[in-house]
Amino acid sequence: MISEKMYELGSRRSAIRELFEYGKSAAERVGADNVFDFSLGNPSLPPPREVTETAMRLLESLPPCELHGYTSAQGLPETRQAVADCLIRRYGASIRPDRIYMTCGAAASLAILFRALISSPDDEILAVAPYFPEYKVFAEGAGARFRVLPPDLVGFGIDLDALETAITPRTRALILNSPNNPSGAVLKRPTLTALAALLKRKSEALGSPILLVSDEPYREIVYGEATPYLPALYPDTVLCYSYSKSLSLPGERIGYIAVPDGVREGDRLYAAVCGAGRALGYVCAPALMQRIVAACVDLLPDIRPYRENRDLLYGALTRYGYECVLPEGAFYLFVKAPDGDSEGFCEKAKRENVLIVPGDGFGCAGYLRISYCVGRERIERSLTAFERLIRG
Ligand code: PLP
Repeated sequence: MISEKMYELGSRRSAIRELFEYGKSAAERVGADNVFDFSLGNPSLPPPREVTETAMRLLESLPPCELHGYTSAQGLPETRQAVADCLIRRYGASIRPDRIYMTCGAAASLAILFRALISSPDDEILAVAPYFPEYKVFAEGAGARFRVLPPDLVGFGIDLDALETAITPRTRALILNSPNNPSGAVLKRPTLTALAALLKRKSEALGSPILLVSDEPYREIVYGEATPYLPALYPDTVLCYSYSKSLSLPGERIGYIAVPDGVREGDRLYAAVCGAGRALGYVCAPALMQRIVAACVDLLPDIRPYRENRDLLYGALTRYGYECVLPEGAFYLFVKAPDGDSEGFCEKAKRENVLIVPGDGFGCAGYLRISYCVGRERIERSLTAFERLIRG
């Protein structure tokens, strides 16, 4: 016998992965230059030069058994110190290295944190649509109920009235993702201040804190104002960070969970994070990557190519008549399906070898996600197809 739940997860690939695989087979048929794959959030910029140089230096200078050996489960002390110092320098954070847990990227951070939090099948994790589809997998995998707030289609912010009514005595956490995948929206201080007040009021009424989980893989990919540092507004905030996007290392699997000083019962939560990492069999985050993070923690990505791609694509698509909110961060455009049928439109686009993702899986039917972390020429060469598609 096997787990039907796991069988279903494993045999039904995510819509994004499905498209990515389709793109590879289409490239074999019609040539890679004729396939316009906008499906994945794989950064199109190489890692900063310092990352590659640090990797080479480490590979050449450290004894291999030391370099590739297990680290402590939480991560190397020097890496956790470097991460804590970086958060203190950048945000004036109140965080200690012994509350940093190095992980295999944001996905692992979330899966571990949810597992650390959930104690009963009635416990709920809330997300705001549109949301990263794997949240549901991680929340349900941890044994929680996953509930979704409807999207704010005006600016992809948070509908605080909907949140007010959605919170129940079983709400353990609210997950936020700003800059957002898939909308590109960046949450602003007034919204977050109001959100913090609401969560504080609700937590007091419930007699236990509702944890804010800040999923931040796009933290540095912003074209205007950045998202305020959330623990400064709402102390019961845990950060789930990843270097996948900021250092262009998605396949190398490196990130962290940070439990700042203000989190109530933070030491117990951190111990539960260590326990959840252990129960899930993570052992430790990749050792070479941890050492690279220790050396490169202050690097920022050069996001100019993403901004240029955003401007090119947004400008062209809105000229053709597509409707879209200008993304202020991350590298996705979230466009209204011209005829309201996102699945149908994506199928039509596929026939033009334009690979884009329906918004349905992000909890937002009627929208399309276009990843613009691609070479500029791919966007330029795809524009006539986008124009044909809206003309019908
Ligand atoms: N959260 C969001 C919003 C994402 O977009 C992604 C990846 O695209 C992840 C989490 C997972 O990131 P990682 O590669 O660090 O596991």
